[in-house]
Amino acid sequence: MTDTTDARRARIEATIRADVRALSRYEVLDGKGFVKLDAMENPYSLPDELADEVGDALSRVPINRYPDGSGNRVKDTLRSAFDLPAHAGLLLGNGSDELIQIITSSIATREAGVLAPEPSFVMYRRNALMAQAPFTAVSLRADFSLDLDAMLRAIDRARPALVFIAYPNNPTGNLSGATDVERIIAAAPGLVVIDEAYHAYANASFASRVLDFPNVVVLRTVSKIGMAGLRLGYAVAHPDWIAHFERLRPPYNVGSLAQAALPVLLRHIDIFTKQAARIRKERARVAAALASLGALVFPSATNFLLVRVPDANASFAALLRGKILVKNLDGTHPLLANCLRITIGTRDENDALIAVLARDSMEARR
Ligand SMILES: *Cc1c(COP(=O)(O)O)cnc(C)c1O
Repeated sequence: MTDTTDARRARIEATIRADVRALSRYEVLDGKGFVKLDAMENPYSLPDELADEVGDALSRVPINRYPDGSGNRVKDTLRSAFDLPAHAGLLLGNGSDELIQIITSSIATREAGVLAPEPSFVMYRRNALMAQAPFTAVSLRADFSLDLDAMLRAIDRARPALVFIAYPNNPTGNLSGATDVERIIAAAPGLVVIDEAYHAYANASFASRVLDFPNVVVLRTVSKIGMAGLRLGYAVAHPDWIAHFERLRPPYNVGSLAQAALPVLLRHIDIFTKQAARIRKERARVAAALASLGALVFPSATNFLLVRVPDANASFAALLRGKILVKNLDGTHPLLANCLRITIGTRDENDALIAVLARDSMEARR
């Protein structure tokens, strides 16, 4: 057998795009054995009866057949569960990640690219790169508030075809002012995507207003409210926008198991609504506890807290030793020095986190 190692390596070097070769993977840590407070998951599992009901529905899925390509049943369910405007169109995605990809590749070009504040959701920049379109980052202020003047200046200069605003923002957790977002919508020469992945934890949304603007798409997902495993995101916009995105949507992008499970789960939306309320209450309790330990806790309209500690690497390591996984953001952006992003867990999980950080901060003081 001939050894093809060198030939293969040379071929990969010559074939895979240089910008893709230079990328690092989106890191997903194996959380087995850890308290997972790193990925904005809802910490509660399904009540037994609901799990059985979902199981029944899944057992009837004709798995030999392709899924319903229209997703109409899922769309009707989403419309009623989330009170979406009757005349808006919906686009379903394999998570809102896929919708970001579909929208970006429908719009961005080498000449007219993508603009977003930073730090924000990393997939905006990554999808601009995939589309080989320029990406303009506009720095948030040091307190993570939106710098409206800088945004408007950058929009004027770069003339981006696509602007992303995470509303509320990840990884900072805060919600921008609606009037600032309106100014950006008015100034943008192309489309503005308002990413509402955390709508269940914020008392604000543009979903009911998408038809009031000529250039707005709202992105939603069920991931952050307790269904991250389904991989289901949806875009809400005027049907004329949706019709164009449909051209780039892979025909069977949402599997039949997810399509069968969602209507059953959303029939019990009250369970998820109550869980979100519990998470918001826990968020306030954890914020107060961490502040009393000396952490700087930033305001959050999400299911996570961004905190600045004296030594994020030391705290992260202490948490790992305590079998707790959070996201260490130190080094990912200059504004995020010594910052950790901590997803709100169950009461017991949060107590475990607070206990480790209490010990850790005492060690630091000694
Ligand atoms: C988590 C997240 C997403 C992705 O959600 P999925 O539907 O799970 O792909 C999109 N935008 C923001 C801001 C997020 O935090």
